[in-house]
Amino acid sequence: MPEAMIECDGLTKRFGTFTAVDHVSFNVGKGSIFGFLGPNGSGKSTVIRMLCGILEPSEGTARIDGHDVARDTESIKEIIGYMSQKFSLYDELTVDENLIFSGKLYGLHGRDLTKRRDALIAITHLEPYINRRAALLSGGWRQRLAMACSLMHQPTVLFLDEPTAGIDPVARRELWDLLFEFTANGMTLFVTTHYMDEAERCDHVGYIYMSKLIVCGEPDELKKMSEVNPPGTRRLDVTCDHVTTALQAMRQMRGVRSATVFGQSMHLLVDENVRRDEIDQKLHSVGIGHAEIHEIGPSLEDVFVTLSAKYATEEEKEKAA
Ligand code: ADP
Ligand code: MG
Repeated sequence: MPEAMIECDGLTKRFGTFTAVDHVSFNVGKGSIFGFLGPNGSGKSTVIRMLCGILEPSEGTARIDGHDVARDTESIKEIIGYMSQKFSLYDELTVDENLIFSGKLYGLHGRDLTKRRDALIAITHLEPYINRRAALLSGGWRQRLAMACSLMHQPTVLFLDEPTAGIDPVARRELWDLLFEFTANGMTLFVTTHYMDEAERCDHVGYIYMSKLIVCGEPDELKKMSEVNPPGTRRLDVTCDHVTTALQAMRQMRGVRSATVFGQSMHLLVDENVRRDEIDQKLHSVGIGHAEIHEIGPSLEDVFVTLSAKYATEEEKEKAA
């Protein structure tokens, strides 16, 4: 890993008796993209708020470029940009006015301010909309504007909290193209998302579940974990009609350890000795004529599903003990 830009060590946040973030530790390398995933309510935004110096950690420490996020809040403010989960735009202001206002909040003025605005308009291709009120922009363009506003003070680390939630696939891809341009210029990005295709594009990903970071690493490394590839098993992709009926049937079949729907198909984790014709037969018995079966490697989603199920089972056991 390159030199660390973000270092979290035992980062913890309690709200009263509830622990929203529980001893989370990880590093993010300079100039890399870190993808932060996890179900709603697992603590992603709370981690970001602590890293941005908005919330004080209850325990643990975090540093950005060597600066303590709880103590050096002034330096942190200069280094980081933050695009929050809720749109942080002024709807009544135009694109241009939103940019100018954000710049002024960071103390920019005069020629510096207008030069920076022009640069960001060029980078984000907002030219055609400069005089449009933010309220009238589509989701994708609103996100671009929010991103441009968070970059007015030239931060070296950018936090994006679900930047692509609710925007269409084309806008999503274009936004990611922009993110890659930023890292190519040395910026470090910390992004939360629910989209697995976006997670796949990150240098490192972390998965937070019930306030704890349960796994962190490079996507390809995580897919090789032994927990995800138990010895004596294979993973199969089964494409057929009536996937929900098929899923029920597969879950009843001997040797099938897990069955999950994946878009138009399902993924099975089966014992090595389960034969394809057995699967075919079982599907026939519930009225499904033809199935295409391929052996596959685990996806990142398989990794997260497997590890969170394992973690939940262990927690249950601990509670019962
Ligand atoms: P995520 O971003 O992963 O959806 P959050 O970090 O927003 O999750 O929230 C994690 C948990 O902490 C949730 O149960 C949420 O209700 C709780 N939480 C977040 N902020 C506060 C707060 N200011 N006071 C009390 N509870 C909070
Ligand atoms: Mg959140």
